[in-house]
Amino acid sequence: MKITHHITDDLLYLYAAGDLKFGWSLAIATHLSLCPSCRATLKTYEQVLAENLAQEHVSEMSVNADDVLAIAGSQMEPCEIAPPVQAEKNFVFPKPLRDLCGDLGDIKWSTMGGGIKQKILHEEDGIVARLLYISPGASASAHGHNGIELTQVVSGGFFDGDQAFERGDIQIVAHDSPHQPIAMNGEACVCLAVTDAPLKFRNFLPRLFQRAFRI
Ligand SMILES: [Zn+2]
Repeated sequence: MKITHHITDDLLYLYAAGDLKFGWSLAIATHLSLCPSCRATLKTYEQVLAENLAQEHVSEMSVNADDVLAIAGSQMEPCEIAPPVQAEKNFVFPKPLRDLCGDLGDIKWSTMGGGIKQKILHEEDGIVARLLYISPGASASAHGHNGIELTQVVSGGFFDGDQAFERGDIQIVAHDSPHQPIAMNGEACVCLAVTDAPLKFRNFLPRLFQRAFRI
């Protein structure tokens, strides 16, 4: 299995700098725990930041983002998921998620209908981090975005248009044109989804329940 959808360079840089709110950091930390390629890029950013901090006149300096991206760009190849370390073998959720909510079997889901369940994990300043459980073959309601949505797959997978997202992949959507994720058949898809604004639904029914589900 390969991870083919990675964290963008700008998000990874902000994460390295510690400039992201908890929800975004949770999604990125979860991806990093599954993705050796992004971990390698993060290390590059951390080294650049540390070198800058170590120099005199730190306050007058700024990191040259183009140089950082050039260094990192060569390392953003699709990668094999690293073999889990021994302690990870019996878990579905990577450690950043488990530290917050336990493992998959510990989650007390709220049913949303249509084969979809959710568990809100964290809310801060309008940024909501939630787990989504989508039954095999079920589809989320078509929706656009007022803000950004990060969706990190932790189990199973989904299709969105002509793209496939499986365990380890992260989807980053920041447009208001509607899209509709559909879980792959055979296994439920479990994702960590982080949003910073209510979704835009075209259909009436999801709009009706939008406030109740805080989506
Ligand atoms: Zn990655």
